[in-house]
Amino acid sequence: MNSHGRWAHSAHPRRTSFRAGNAGLPSIDGDDARQQRPLQSPPSLDRILTDPSERLEFAATRRDFLRFLSLTGAAVAFGSCASASPFTIPVNDMKLHFYPYTLELKHTFTIATSSRTTTPDMMVQVEKDGITGYGEASMPPYLGESQDSARAFLEKVDLSAFPDPFQLEDVLRAIDQIMPGNPAAKAAVDIALHDWVGKKMGQPWYRIWGLDPAKTPVTSFTIGIDTKEVVRQKTKEAGIYKVLKVKLGRDTDKMMIETIREVTDTPVCVDVNQGWKDKTVALEMVEWLATKNIMFVEQPMPKEQIDDIAWLREKSPLPIIGDESVQRLPDVRKAWGVYDGINVKLMKCTGMREAYKMITLARALDMKVMLGCMTETSCAISAAAQLSPLVDWADLDGAVLIKNDLFSGATIVDGKVTLPDRPGIGVVPLK
Ligand SMILES: [Mg+2]
Repeated sequence: MNSHGRWAHSAHPRRTSFRAGNAGLPSIDGDDARQQRPLQSPPSLDRILTDPSERLEFAATRRDFLRFLSLTGAAVAFGSCASASPFTIPVNDMKLHFYPYTLELKHTFTIATSSRTTTPDMMVQVEKDGITGYGEASMPPYLGESQDSARAFLEKVDLSAFPDPFQLEDVLRAIDQIMPGNPAAKAAVDIALHDWVGKKMGQPWYRIWGLDPAKTPVTSFTIGIDTKEVVRQKTKEAGIYKVLKVKLGRDTDKMMIETIREVTDTPVCVDVNQGWKDKTVALEMVEWLATKNIMFVEQPMPKEQIDDIAWLREKSPLPIIGDESVQRLPDVRKAWGVYDGINVKLMKCTGMREAYKMITLARALDMKVMLGCMTETSCAISAAAQLSPLVDWADLDGAVLIKNDLFSGATIVDGKVTLPDRPGIGVVPLK
């Protein structure tokens, strides 16, 4: 167990698994058994990261194998199958580690479709050259991923197969193609690789992307569906925030907004999470909300009701933003003409790299952009925050909503996203 009392699991059991009998190649897979440790009796993560014998053994086997190739002339023959598992040539010693973690929420979190007190999470680390990159997959159950599915995906990721971790385009495209779905698990690797590359370069990503950290937006604070008393209390607690994000989509919608307006005039955006089913009722609600200092309405109706949402948008006095409708890059083009803007989240779109592309495309289509999150530690929040100077609105309160954060990183100062002046995604593990 490591210092946080958690277990870790190394993710690339086939790193040097050249098995006897395969294309006449020698067996040099001495570390296969060592790599495939049972999950129930894991080694210390700290020991995995610091044990030089692992790296020495790997280096020795790789060197021996390459010498064998040069002596036998087998390199050409081997090259023809080098891209097929399990015959991947190990070309760098980058390691991937991951372990499950459960986020504990400060308050029961209720939206139109579900209610919960915890969020399953998977923490990821990549390690090379003494530099550790951190990543994270947050997986609210209603989105379909789990710690089991994330582990199954991450066990298929072999970072040693890529010649240069700086080639993020190729590396992340290949990881995306391992299997469909799994956007949060993919985001965890994407974030960890970006963190590692940024640290190796000695620069934060907002600087690599040429963004001004002074242009970060204010972030909203989320108030879930709850009783009048709890909503009033949460509104009072949200005093430092310049924008509130209020969850709607049940028959208590007007009570929620009226209760908040009894406490504060702070601008509010609302998120219906597909909760309104009838377009005329939705229009009545939007017109009522427009009299209550509401900034925009997020995902008012089920994502399948595209024509109804486009109809609503045409008549709506408030901007209509797509969230559940807009998962990945191709969805941005489909959202044009249906929504005024999109909500980009790293856990939906496989991470920082695709999020940057989605924001760029939305801007080219003259659409508004919101940067959102799940309940997450400061790891994924800080990764998203690197992009925040590019967007109109941020909803990056995910780490504020949990009791057991693991990192310090981007913070919220006087309601505004504030970027640390540290390389990569700018996070430091909490002791
Ligand atoms: Mg939403």
